[in-house]
Amino acid sequence: MEIKNLKGVGTQLERKLNNLNIYTIQDLLENYPYRYNYINIVNINDVKENENCMIKATIVDAGRVQYIKRNFNRLSFRAVSDNVILNVTIFNRAFLKQSLTIGKEIILIGKYNKMKSSFVASDIKFNLKNNSIEPVYHLVEGIKNNQVIKLMDEVLKYDYIYDIVPEELTSKYNFVSKKEAIKFIHKPETMEDAKKAIVRLKYEELFNFMFKINYLKKINNKAIGIKRKVNENSKGDFMNGLPFTLTKDQVTTIDDIYKDLTDEFRMNRLVLGDVGSGKTIVATYAIYLNYLSGYQSALMAPTEILAEQHYKSISKTLEKFNIKVSFLTGSMKKKDKNIVLEGLKNGEINLIIGTHALIGDGVEFKNLGLVVTDEQHRFGVGQRNTLRDKGITPDVLYLSATPIPRTYALTIYGDLDISIIKTKPQGRKEIITKVESENNIKDVLYKMLEELKNNHQIYVVSPLIENNEELDLKSVFDLKEKLDIAFQNKVSVGVLHGKLKQNEKDKIMEAFKNGDIKILISTTVIEVGIDVPNSTMMVIYNAERFGLATLHQLRGRVGRNELQSYCYLISNKEVDRLKVLEESNDGFYISEKDFQMRGQGDLFGVKQSGDMPFKIANLKDDYQILLQAKLDSSEYIEKELYLNNSYYKNLIDNISFIN
Ligand code: ADP
Ligand code: MG
Repeated sequence: MEIKNLKGVGTQLERKLNNLNIYTIQDLLENYPYRYNYINIVNINDVKENENCMIKATIVDAGRVQYIKRNFNRLSFRAVSDNVILNVTIFNRAFLKQSLTIGKEIILIGKYNKMKSSFVASDIKFNLKNNSIEPVYHLVEGIKNNQVIKLMDEVLKYDYIYDIVPEELTSKYNFVSKKEAIKFIHKPETMEDAKKAIVRLKYEELFNFMFKINYLKKINNKAIGIKRKVNENSKGDFMNGLPFTLTKDQVTTIDDIYKDLTDEFRMNRLVLGDVGSGKTIVATYAIYLNYLSGYQSALMAPTEILAEQHYKSISKTLEKFNIKVSFLTGSMKKKDKNIVLEGLKNGEINLIIGTHALIGDGVEFKNLGLVVTDEQHRFGVGQRNTLRDKGITPDVLYLSATPIPRTYALTIYGDLDISIIKTKPQGRKEIITKVESENNIKDVLYKMLEELKNNHQIYVVSPLIENNEELDLKSVFDLKEKLDIAFQNKVSVGVLHGKLKQNEKDKIMEAFKNGDIKILISTTVIEVGIDVPNSTMMVIYNAERFGLATLHQLRGRVGRNELQSYCYLISNKEVDRLKVLEESNDGFYISEKDFQMRGQGDLFGVKQSGDMPFKIANLKDDYQILLQAKLDSSEYIEKELYLNNSYYKNLIDNISFIN
C-alpha cells in the first residue's frame, strides 16, 4: 500500500517522505531509527554545569525570535523549573514560537549554565513520558522526528509483515517474530526489546543476502561453459608482445583466467586491484584467448570517457594480433551504429568496447564468448546479466579498482572467484601525500605554480557544486574564482560537475586531456579511471568529507607515469584519519583502515548501486552476524531445506533476476 493512503499523509508529507526513498508502507516500516533517546527527566538542582540533561519547565513569557542570517534564527524565552528562572535559547526553531503559551509545561533538552541561569536547548518536547524511549530517525528537511513517530503509530496498525527467517532458525536463536521485531524497533518499551528487534532484523537481512550469494555460488560452480582449446604457447606469445614484463600478481591472474577459459565450467571471476595495478592488460589477455578460440568479446565500461580510453589502449595492444576492435556508445550516429551492429551480428568484429549501449535491444552477437565489465559495482547486477545473456554461456570477468579487505571481498563477492593484484608495476613512484590545513593554502598554491611551470596539469576536487554557507564548504565555483585570482587569470581553469550535460562534460575532459585546460576543478565525477598522465598534482578540498577509499581512488588520477606526483588533502578536521593516506599508497591497506575507522564507510559506491541492500545491517559492525548467516545459509542450501519454504523456493526460481 502506498503511503499517500495513510491517515495524516498529504501531498506535502508524501513528497518529503519520497525524498527519503519512502513510497510504501513497507518502506516506512523498514525506515528504522538509527538511535534512541532515553527520556530521563531530572531536577534542575541536580544538574551539573554544562552537562546534557532533560528538565521539566513551565513557560513564563511568550518569547521572541531573532533572524540572524538566512537559515539561521534564535528563539529565546523564559521558563521556570523548580523555582529556578531560566533564560532559554534554541536555534533554528522559530516555528516553535506559536506553541509557547504562558503556563504550558514543557521538557527542555540541552545544557544548563548555572552562573548565567541560562539554558541552551537542543530540543524542546511537549509531551513525553519520563523513562520512556524515543526513537530517532534519519530525516530530510521539513520532516520532524515527532511526525515520523506519530506516523509509525498509524502504520503499525497495518498487518504487512513478511517474515523471512526460516522457522528452524527462528527457533534455534530464539528470535522474536518479525511482527514483534518491527513493533519493538519503532516503539520499544525497554532497551532490551529494542536490542532483540535489532539483532533479529539484522540477521534477517544478512541471511537473505548470504542465501542469494551462496546459492549463486552453487549454481555458478556447476554452470557449464565453453571449453576452449588453445595452443599452450598463447601465453608466451601474448607476453612477448608487451612493452613491459608482467608483475607477479598479473601472471597469477592470467593463469587463473587461462584455467577458467579452458576448463568446462563458466568463468565468473572478479579481478580486484588498485588503480594502475594493470588490470586492463590482464583483461586483454582474456580477450586474446577468447579470440584465439574463435569467439567474440564485449567490454563494458560505466562511462563514455572510460570506454573510449579502453578502446584506444586495448586496440593498440591487440593491433598486432589482427583482432578487430570496435566501439559503441549511445551518442553515436545512427549510421555508424548500424555498421557496428551489423559487424557484431555477422561476426566481423572480434571485440566490442562500449557503455550501457552494449546491452541495448538492437545489439546481437554472432557468438559472444566473453564479457568483461569494468568497475563492476557501477552497473546494477541486472545490467551485467543482460549482457551476459546475449551470449549462450559466455565467460564473465569483472574488474574492480576498489580494493576491499579480502575477508569482506570473500563474503560480499562470495558468488565470484577472486584474483587480487597487489603488486605494482615497477618504476612507479609513490604519490607524495600531505594533509594541509586551510591556513597553509599558500604553500599549496606555490606548489601548484611550480607544477604548472613544469608544464604539468592539476586536478582540484571539491565535494560541492554550490556554496553551502552553513557547512562552510568550498564549492567548485568558489574555487574557480579563488584560483583565477591567485593565478591572475593566466592559467586556464576548467570546471567539471555532475549537473553538466554529458557532451559538456566530454568537451571539458577533452580539453583537459589535450592540455588546453591546465587545472581541472571538479566534484567527484572524475573518480573513476580517467587517465591523463601529464597531471601530477591532486588537491582535495574538505577532504574530511570523503572516505579514505574514495580519497585513494581520487589520488589515483595522478602518478600515472614516471613523473613524481603529489596529493594535498586540505582539511582542518579528522586529520588523523586522513594521515593514513600520507602513510600509504596501498589501496588494500587503506581500505582495511577505512573499515576499522568508519564501518562499511563508503564501501565504494557498492551500496548505492543496490548490490548492498541493507537497511539496518552494517558489514563491519555486524560481521559476526554475517559470518553466522553465511554458515546458516550454506547449511540451509546444502540440506535443501529451502525446498519447503515458499519464500526461498520462489527466490531461487527467479534467481537470474536477483544475482
Ligand atoms: P588499471 O586498469 O588496473 O587501473 P591499467 O591496466 O590501466 O591499470 O595500467 C596502468 C598503466 O600501467 C597502463 O599504462 C599500462 O600499460 C601499464 N602497465 C600495466 N602493467 C604493467 C607492467 N607490468 N609494467 C609496466 N607497466 C604496466
Ligand atoms: Mg571455463
